[in-house]
Amino acid sequence: MFKLNSLRKKFIVLVTVILLIIFGVSGYIVSLDNVSKTRKNLTEQAIAFAKLSTKPLAETKELYFDSGYFKFKEVFLEIQRLDPSIKKIQFIDVNGKIIFDSDKIGESSYQGSDNNFVDQAMLEKVISAEPEYVYNPKNSSELVEIFYPYFSDWGSHPYTLRYFVSYDEIKANIITIVEQTILLFIIFFIFVVLAITTSVGRLILSPITKLNKLTQKISAGKYGERIQLKTGDEIENLANSTNKMAEKLEQDIIELKELDKLKDEFIDIAAHNFRTPVTHIRFDLDFLKTKLTGKISAKELDVIKDIDSSNESLTLLIDDLLNITTLEKEKMKLVKFQPFDLTAIIKEAADIYGRNAKKKNITFKVDISKNTKAEVLGDPPKVREVIGNLLDNAFKFTKDKGSVWVSLKESPKEYIVTIEDTGIGISEEEIPKIFEKFHRATDILTYDYEGRGLGLYISKLIVEAHNGRIWVESKIGKGSKFSFSLPKNLPNSPIPQHV
Ligand code: ADP
Repeated sequence: MFKLNSLRKKFIVLVTVILLIIFGVSGYIVSLDNVSKTRKNLTEQAIAFAKLSTKPLAETKELYFDSGYFKFKEVFLEIQRLDPSIKKIQFIDVNGKIIFDSDKIGESSYQGSDNNFVDQAMLEKVISAEPEYVYNPKNSSELVEIFYPYFSDWGSHPYTLRYFVSYDEIKANIITIVEQTILLFIIFFIFVVLAITTSVGRLILSPITKLNKLTQKISAGKYGERIQLKTGDEIENLANSTNKMAEKLEQDIIELKELDKLKDEFIDIAAHNFRTPVTHIRFDLDFLKTKLTGKISAKELDVIKDIDSSNESLTLLIDDLLNITTLEKEKMKLVKFQPFDLTAIIKEAADIYGRNAKKKNITFKVDISKNTKAEVLGDPPKVREVIGNLLDNAFKFTKDKGSVWVSLKESPKEYIVTIEDTGIGISEEEIPKIFEKFHRATDILTYDYEGRGLGLYISKLIVEAHNGRIWVESKIGKGSKFSFSLPKNLPNSPIPQHV
């Protein structure tokens, strides 16, 4: 279907509609005027013809009708041809009898129609012996018949000629006018559309297209792009405002990036500085636990164990932070590429998490064929970390009697690992943010889960460092399905280059 999805198309349609209206109305007015003029001319011409030809026609009849019908026919037709709008002529005697009808002129000798009489109204027009005009009852300006009397040399009135006027010529005229108008319209239309679209295109559409391209580039992250338009109108103002907006955006983004860099540096320094005291605390607590066991009460020992477990959480957080900063900085340099079997890693994880499932009363299924190998090129401990993170989450966010299952599929170029659960799910608004650093879905904050919002971010960094993809499909209250892909180790696979 024709869609008005561009300004150019809209202009063409608008111009066409306007031109159609203008040409339609003016064509109609011109045709009407022309028709009435032609009708008037035709009427005058028919009257003049009747006036001038009555005598010669009648005299021809007197001379040749009885003695030489062929000659009569010849002269009659000659005279009749002078006015093509007269389609038929009759001779009617004073009794109303039709003594000749031009319709029958084709016959070799005129037989006449002995008993063919005109009606009373027509007879009166004959008897009046004056020129009489009959008009079309539907159109009073349309003369349809003329009664013209013939007087012989002696002044007697032997018959009247009846002329039938035809307006076929007008119809032909209208058709010619309409044809000419359409032809003119087409030529004019093509010219006007070309002129308008070129000028509108140059004046409005091209600058708008350029502006559109600029905004597309800006939205694609090319904040340094600018546009120079010198149209001297609102479009130039719009272009200037867009340039200013891009400038402001670019500045804000530079500032944000600097802030982000500072934040990352701060996290990096803080994590490094925390690492040593936290390790010391762990050693000291281990020392205290061994030294004081049996010497202090069970309650006091529990306090030390609590401190130890908090210290353990702190150590994990610091490890995650250090992991992120190095992954972000080093990207693939950190990934040690080697061929390995993905199925083996999934099986290892399945053993560990299978035990966890029993404790949590969760059904755990692993859907991989036992004998097939899935060889990929990558860093096994890092891939193990991704599977671990996804399984941790699946168990963490699935309640008792739920299910978690792992599956492995393949496409021509990739292996795809999927970890699905029947847990709390993630809302549509949260899904796009779920792989961001420190992001935890707002709806889970009401649940009592521990988390740092880093596992998915780290997983994403690792998968992308392997040239893979990671994504999620989820429905709140129904469960989540996390998948990641890794390129197959094919005979010609290039070893990913460090960037
Ligand atoms: P953490 O689990 O430590 O909070 P993650 O980066 O692993 O951090 O996950 C980020 C957030 O994503 C979680 O806080 C949770 O809101 C959501 N999430 C991750 N996995 C699941 C899952 N299987 N089911 C529901 N929500 C999930």
